[in-house]
Amino acid sequence: MGTSFQRTMEVTQGFLKPMIDVFRDEMPAPFEHLGHLYSAAVAENVERYEGIAEAMNDSSRKVALFEFGLVPQPFLAFGCATLCLETYPLFFTRTNMETVYEFIEAAESAGVSSETCSTDRFIIGAAAKGELPDNSFFVTSSAPCDGTRIAYPILERMYPAPMLYLDAPFRYDLEAVRYYAEQLKEELLPFLEKVTGRRFDLDRFREVVEESNRAYENLVNLHDTYKVLPAPHNGFLRLIPFLIYISGAGLPGTTRTLGLLSEDATQRVREGRTQGPFEEKHRALWVHVAPTFDVELFEWMEEQFGAMVVSNSVSSSAILEPIDTTSLESMLEGIAWQGLDMTMSIMRYDTEKLIQFSLNTYEDYRCDCMIVTQHVGCNSICGAQGMIRKVCRDRDIPVLFIEHDYNDDRILSKELLRSQIEDFFTTVMA
Ligand code: SF4
Repeated sequence: MGTSFQRTMEVTQGFLKPMIDVFRDEMPAPFEHLGHLYSAAVAENVERYEGIAEAMNDSSRKVALFEFGLVPQPFLAFGCATLCLETYPLFFTRTNMETVYEFIEAAESAGVSSETCSTDRFIIGAAAKGELPDNSFFVTSSAPCDGTRIAYPILERMYPAPMLYLDAPFRYDLEAVRYYAEQLKEELLPFLEKVTGRRFDLDRFREVVEESNRAYENLVNLHDTYKVLPAPHNGFLRLIPFLIYISGAGLPGTTRTLGLLSEDATQRVREGRTQGPFEEKHRALWVHVAPTFDVELFEWMEEQFGAMVVSNSVSSSAILEPIDTTSLESMLEGIAWQGLDMTMSIMRYDTEKLIQFSLNTYEDYRCDCMIVTQHVGCNSICGAQGMIRKVCRDRDIPVLFIEHDYNDDRILSKELLRSQIEDFFTTVMA
C-alpha cells in the first residue's frame, strides 16, 4: 500500500507546478499567443489538488469524493475539498501512464472484470493501492451507468470511508429533477452534517452557488464563442473549461480561470481575430470521450486536416441557466439539474434522447462530420452504435466509429487511432 495521495502530489509538485512557468514564459510555437491561458489552466489544477492535500491534513475538514451526477457546490458549502472521481484517471493519463496501468491491473487482481469501464477499474485500483485521499467520504448516484453502479459498492467494502448512494432518475424533466433535488435535501445535507460535523449554513451555500453561477456564465460565454467560424482557441483549450467547471464550481480560482479564458475568446471574436495557425476546413462533433492519453490529438487534427473538434460529451453540456438562488429549494433544484446534466450523466438518457442531444449540438456548432468513440466497457455508447449509424445515414452525416479505451492505450494505441482518423479525413472528407 502506498501513502495516500502521494503519487498525485508528486505529479502536482514535480510536473504540473513547473509547467505553470514554462507555459507562461516559453510556450512553443505555434501556440505562443495562448501560453498564458495554458499556464492559468494548469495553475488552477495545481491549486485544486494542493487544496485536497491541505484538507487531508486538517482534522476540521474532509475530502468529498463524488462522481458524475453531482457537482462540487454542496460539498464546498461544508468546507470540504472536492475530487470528482471520474475525472481522476485523466490526471494520470496525461502525466503518468504507468500509474494508470498499475491501478487498472490492481482492480483486476482484486477480482473486477476487465470488461468493466476502465474509469471504474482505475478508481478501484487507486483505492486498492492506497492512493485515494484519506480523511474523505464518498457520494455517488445511480447515474450514469452499470460501471459506477458496480464500482461504488466495491469501494464501500474495500475503503474505510462513509458512503452515500442517491437514486438518479432516468428521465430528463422537471419532475425528475425535483425527485433528485428532494434527495439532496433529505439525504445529502443530513449526511454532510454528520460526516463533517458542521451545521448546514444556508448563507454559505448561497455564496458558493453564486460563485459557481459566475463561473457558469463564463463557461456558457466560452462555449458560445466556439460557434464562431473559425473557432477561437485550439483543441486543448476548448477541451478543458467544462472539466475545470465540474471539478471546481464554487471555487474562486475556477471562476477566475474560466473568466480569463472567456475574456480572451470573446475579445478575439469581437476583434475578428479567431483564426489560429491552421485553416479551419472541417468541424467534427466528437460523441463520447476522446482518448485522454493523447493530449495533442486535437491540435494534430487541426494541423493535418484543418479539422476542429468543437464539442465532445465531456464539454458540451453548458446549456442550462444559472442557478436560481432565491431559496434552498431553488438552489437544490439547480444543483440537481447541473448534476444530472453533467457530461456522462447524459448517458442515462434513453438512446433516442442521447442521439437528439448530439444532433442538436451538431447543428449548433455547424459541424460537418462526427467521430463516435466506442469506449469498451461502456454499454451505453457501444449499444447505441446501430441507431447512431442509421440516423447519420438518413441525414447524410459522415461518421467515423472508433473502438478504443479512452484511458488505456493498450486497447488502441495512439498511432492506430490517429491512422483511422487520417483515413477518414483523407478519403470520406477529402
Ligand atoms: S464511459 Fe460509460 S461506463 Fe464508463 S463511466 Fe462513463 S457512462 Fe459509465
